[in-house]
Amino acid sequence: MTVHFPFQNTYSALPANFFARVAPTPVAAPRLIKLNRPLAIQLGLDADLLSTPEGAEILAGKRVPDGADPIAMAYAGHQFGHFVPQLGDGRAILLGEVIDKGGVRRDIQLKGSGPTPFSRRGDGRAALGPVLREYIVSEAMFALGVPTTRSLAAVVTGERVQREIAQPGAVLTRVAASHIRVGTFQFFAARGDTDGIRALADHVIARHYPHVKDADQPYHALLAGVVARQAELVARWLLVGFIHGVMNTDNSSISGETIDYGPCAFLDAYNPAQVFSSIDEMGRYAYANQPRIALWNLTRLAECLLPLFTDDKDRAIEQAQAILGEFPEKFTTAYQAGLHEKVGLFTARDGDEALIQDLLDAMAKNEADFTLTFRQLGHAAGDEAGIADVRAQFTDPAAFDEWAARWRERTALEPQTSAERKAAMHAVNPAFIPRNHRVEAVIQAAVSNDDYAPFEELLTVLSKPFDDHPQYAAYAEPPLPEQRVTQTFCGT
Ligand code: AMP
Ligand code: MG
Repeated sequence: MTVHFPFQNTYSALPANFFARVAPTPVAAPRLIKLNRPLAIQLGLDADLLSTPEGAEILAGKRVPDGADPIAMAYAGHQFGHFVPQLGDGRAILLGEVIDKGGVRRDIQLKGSGPTPFSRRGDGRAALGPVLREYIVSEAMFALGVPTTRSLAAVVTGERVQREIAQPGAVLTRVAASHIRVGTFQFFAARGDTDGIRALADHVIARHYPHVKDADQPYHALLAGVVARQAELVARWLLVGFIHGVMNTDNSSISGETIDYGPCAFLDAYNPAQVFSSIDEMGRYAYANQPRIALWNLTRLAECLLPLFTDDKDRAIEQAQAILGEFPEKFTTAYQAGLHEKVGLFTARDGDEALIQDLLDAMAKNEADFTLTFRQLGHAAGDEAGIADVRAQFTDPAAFDEWAARWRERTALEPQTSAERKAAMHAVNPAFIPRNHRVEAVIQAAVSNDDYAPFEELLTVLSKPFDDHPQYAAYAEPPLPEQRVTQTFCGT
């Protein structure tokens, strides 16, 4: 029996300058660390066969499955505000596309599978630590209900990769609605290739925004669609305390998924200015800056689309500005609606936004844990005694009391029972997030001791983040001062 992937490739049928055909580079001794069986089944793959040595060889890039048309995609991008006209998949290879059980076309890509024509000075490889981090965080985001690329598998290669210190090499199999980025459009715009921009836009419309095809102005509607999805996405990030860390335009997905988990991290204590990434020295990609940066990235996308709007350049710019102008309201609507849910409000009234902001301000001032404060507020909605646990999150617990009294008054105006309020809050406020110190501990055990039991346990906890798992209660806890992770690294 051989592993069969029902590939139906469309990206590799686009013009030749969209990609480079390149096969993965075989590795010494592939070993499967993790297969995401539910995802494999969703993709129409045979999970049992993928778990065999042959499957591990495919997932490590040692063997190319039938029907694959391996390519490295071309793209450009603004990195920390600086434009680089050619980036591209330097260590990732798209094997092909499959149609999943829901009828959705999904990319299957190997990340860390060897050099490509876009590798520049890089080795085309990935280290085990970052592969495990991406696996954990992307699957946690999925369980939290945030649009994201998925992780199908992680394998170790049996080879070392040289980073600051030598590390075990690994390959992640990433699954995405597509790997088309803002930077993909920028690649063609930088070359003045309007035909390329149009071909890409048409591909994106057919694949991700089919409803805009019949609009009066499909390319305008395409931009509006991406603006809407990105506004919603960034609101969801903020509502779960997620910091992407490298929101470069090449890491900004056109389909509206979270993509490229590098130095990403979740907030422990609520701090709008929080930055973890070691390379983000100016705080460009700080937690609360993310909406502004998303709009900045979308503005770069709009610039690429101008030639498709109209030949009158001034008119095209006006039209783009009008579409981009919808972002703040779309973001705020999604963010405020989410915050209302987080504090257990079923309706919106005058004064609610100020009430919620006052809580956030008190949390920031008192270093309250973002996740636990909202989760425990849900307990307090169900049982008055729970208030003590929320108070305990604040360095000055009295800072919470006045707010709690206002919140009780406000919630009393709604007809829902306390049990209903608690259930609604628990459905949106997770108990479990991939806390940095836990992720680091998992990586440490795997890299130093070849021990994957902590990885498996963390994945189990994070797969049901809205349930109380009494046996895993410790995973809900923030780090002790000595466990605190203050910096994360790209690890490329
Ligand atoms: P990232 O920081 O993962 O978003 O990558 C930014 C760019 O650097 C992309 O073009 C990657 O393909 C490339 N890159 C990152 N790491 C490597 C590596 N080890 N080898 C080759 N290219 C890489
Ligand atoms: Mg990237």
